[in-house]
Amino acid sequence: MTEQIPDACFSHSNEEVPEMVTRIGDRAVVLGAGTAGLLAARVLSDAYSDVVVFDHDRLPDGAAARRCVPQGRHIHVLVAGGMRAMEELLPGLTADLVGDGAPMVDQCGDVRWYLGGHRLRQAESDLTAVSASRPNLEHRVRSRVAARPGVRIVDRCDALGLTVSRDGRKVTGVRVLRRADGSVEEVLDADLVVDATGRGSRTPAWLERLGYHPPEREEVRVDLTYVTRTYASDPALMGGDLGILLAPSPPYPRGAAIQAIENGRCLVTAVGMLGHRPPSSPDGWVDFLRSLPRPDVYDAIRDAEPLDAPRSYHFPASRRQRYERCRRLPEGLLVTGDAACSFNPIYAQGMSIAAFEAGLLAEHLKGGREPDPHRWFRDMAKVVDVPWDMATGGDLAWPQVEGRRSAKVRLANRYLPLVHAAAAQDPEVVRAFFRVAAMVDPPGTLFAAPVVGRVLRRTISACAAGSRTPAREPATPRPPR
Ligand SMILES: Cc1cc2nc3c(=O)[nH]c(=O)nc-3n(C[C@H](O)[C@H](O)[C@H](O)COP(=O)(O)OP(=O)(O)OC[C@H]3O[C@@H](n4cnc5c(N)ncnc54)[C@H](O)[C@@H]3O)c2cc1C
Repeated sequence: MTEQIPDACFSHSNEEVPEMVTRIGDRAVVLGAGTAGLLAARVLSDAYSDVVVFDHDRLPDGAAARRCVPQGRHIHVLVAGGMRAMEELLPGLTADLVGDGAPMVDQCGDVRWYLGGHRLRQAESDLTAVSASRPNLEHRVRSRVAARPGVRIVDRCDALGLTVSRDGRKVTGVRVLRRADGSVEEVLDADLVVDATGRGSRTPAWLERLGYHPPEREEVRVDLTYVTRTYASDPALMGGDLGILLAPSPPYPRGAAIQAIENGRCLVTAVGMLGHRPPSSPDGWVDFLRSLPRPDVYDAIRDAEPLDAPRSYHFPASRRQRYERCRRLPEGLLVTGDAACSFNPIYAQGMSIAAFEAGLLAEHLKGGREPDPHRWFRDMAKVVDVPWDMATGGDLAWPQVEGRRSAKVRLANRYLPLVHAAAAQDPEVVRAFFRVAAMVDPPGTLFAAPVVGRVLRRTISACAAGSRTPAREPATPRPPR
């Protein structure tokens, strides 16, 4: 049936790309051409002669927002750790994005951060990453992956399900349907299928239909809403900074952010946690920004002309599919990206995790054998554990968020406000904090003696000066909703 799949819309060859390292199989199929699917395809092209990526969306030729990824219109920050991982997979990606006019941003030095009522000190660091819109980043990744030998990206093609061997133990291919009049279901055989279809992944249901138990699903509800507009980015807009974040915090569940992106534009997002929904009407949206405890975002945009209308995106819950706990799984099937775990986007982790998982896939392919699903999911869980704990642990600092608060979570949520307070003044603490947030260092470094010592010194001197939380900025809170 292979010949019924039309030629890929983005198939090219590129002489400069090195030849495949160890050939494992003839064909790998990736479902979903988002960040995770594209990066997985990049890695698979080293080991499979034919890598077919299916996406049900119409994929644009350039950097345009698309219908099936509505979150793409909202702020997407690629943190320094993720940028490094992506650049390793696709050397030259950063230069492409900079060539498109995306600014290089020191995530500790160039961004004005307000966390837990503190304005963090801006200190020069090596946490530099390119600040691109999600459509532009995806466009550049897609172009580079499509240029790999053997990679074909087929859009407007729905993944309907899996095919399996007679005994049901091995996935042997996929069932797909072109989004075109008169098309009929087609089957494409594959040695390996990777599901990267995002939060709506149907793999749990497909497994169940094939007689397997679906994975346990864990959720932490945050009921988060982003409402975003684009503005022309005048250098004076943010007083020389390249970003502003007013993070929502338990006493005040509303916030906002500005991200400078390519082509002299910036994205401005109003954020509400736990059911606080920023309005989508232009006037209501501006009023929301004006009502925030800090004026920074409102001041930046109040005299600026928006380039579009506010657009809303609702994110109900962080969600993790616990495939690593499945006792039985078919061979020949992996899951990656949001399809396996999607995090509260405020922590800016998802694209970086997709890059780390692609790096892990490269490790699994090094053995020269088909990746073993049980090993894959076990190792992927190790990649996901830390960011999952950081995101859900942070959310559990909100008394209204439901979930189990382990001793570790309770300790972290007592200690982190002290770190934020110290980071308002101490450049070493703020750098250590952002190295963790940018997924360059593990969270344990914040609990190591050098940082703990500095945090305690700041805390003691602030207490001696008469305030429990040192260096808290005077705020002008206005009543929520
Ligand atoms: C509002 C918001 C803001 C975010 N901000 C950040 C941020 O600042 N930093 C960060 O790192 N991450 C952020 N993320 C997370 C980030 O978007 C994702 O984690 C990351 O892009 C990986 O996504 P993915 O490729 O797994 O899934 P997706 O991006 O959802 O891609 C899935 C793809 O699969 C396709 N597809 C779905 N079903 C089918 C099917 N049946 N057949 C064929 N194709 C199918 C879709 O069309 C899509 O192209 C944010 C997320 C949201 C919701």
